[in-house]
Amino acid sequence: MPPGGIAEQPVSPPIWLTSDYLYEGLEHYADVINERRPGFVYGRYGNPTHVALHRVLASLDAAEAAWSFASGMAALNTGLTSLLRSGDHLLAQRTLYGGTFALLTKVFPGYGIDVSFVPAEAEEVAAAIRPNTRAVLVETLANPTFRVSDVAGIGKVCAQRDVALVVDNTIPTPYLFRPLELPGVTLVAHATTKYIGGHSDLIGGSVTGSRELMDRIRHLAIDQGTTAGAFEAWLALRGVQTLALRMSRQCATALELARTLAGHSKVAEVGYAGLPAHPDHERAASLFHGDRYGAMLAFTLRGGFEAGLRACDALQVARVGSSFGSLRSQVCHPATTSHRQLSAEERTAAGIGDGLIRVAVGGEDPADLIEDFLQALEKA
Ligand SMILES: *Cc1c(COP(=O)(O)O)cnc(C)c1O
Repeated sequence: MPPGGIAEQPVSPPIWLTSDYLYEGLEHYADVINERRPGFVYGRYGNPTHVALHRVLASLDAAEAAWSFASGMAALNTGLTSLLRSGDHLLAQRTLYGGTFALLTKVFPGYGIDVSFVPAEAEEVAAAIRPNTRAVLVETLANPTFRVSDVAGIGKVCAQRDVALVVDNTIPTPYLFRPLELPGVTLVAHATTKYIGGHSDLIGGSVTGSRELMDRIRHLAIDQGTTAGAFEAWLALRGVQTLALRMSRQCATALELARTLAGHSKVAEVGYAGLPAHPDHERAASLFHGDRYGAMLAFTLRGGFEAGLRACDALQVARVGSSFGSLRSQVCHPATTSHRQLSAEERTAAGIGDGLIRVAVGGEDPADLIEDFLQALEKA
């Protein structure tokens, strides 16, 4: 029963904006903090708002348990360090979110964690596993190329070789894909900042997995101080209610835009696995539910970098923006912004051409958005 003797359940869960709690006495407090009795002790250990969010996140990911974090990076940091020790090797996909690439190349080596990069294909992963490889990290849909990783094949390799597999599923979301349903997948991470929150109003992350591993991750999140704030947990809980509605609309518009761009004379290449001609189309169709392929795509104009910049600046419905995942359509130029941490050689190896434009499709009227791209391409 909610506090204050109110029998009616609120439709919208309350936000528990309290950092700490009062107890009946010393014994009560000792029982709760020693986990002999259920209860709450301190904000960093989670509160009832977190519990409500964790139930939803676990259910969406078909996981036994979930934990929410102060950011997607906090989720990846705690999730990965729950599996890795000094002297271990982490094998990661070459095309990664820029912040993750920075964590793996700038921070982990200082703690004695060796990191190497491979394309997200089963054979390449199998060949690169070393005796000290403890974990493999992939993003289902690589940002910003939107190639589809071989999560099923890599899962089989990881299961055979007894290596943990962490899947960053931020871009497909559980609406399209639930990696934990595949053999060999150990943990799923999301930046809830993006589609789960869905409104560009919070920074947050999540990790889901088995109860046993999530217990370890919960304790590590407490020790590392990476747990989500209560208000952000509440915003994620509020936003996630419309995940399916938003994704359904945004994926449908993205497919329409991808088709329009692919048929345009000024466009050299479109990165969107929903197009039947895309090299990953069949893989995407086998992994993703409901003939949907995500709300993000990339394109390159025949006129290259300069033409791409002119087109982006001419957009009026979509805007140049730094992130994605909300109802607002945003475009960006990864080589000079989100993926600036990579050297030119690293970008080439990751397939991020200098002329590549990333599009995050929002919830605007599809006809307005497509018309906007067509008028911008005229000016490119
Ligand atoms: C945004 C993002 C992250 C990091 O999330 P933050 O909330 O910005 O820390 C990690 N992975 C992917 C795929 C992302 O898009």
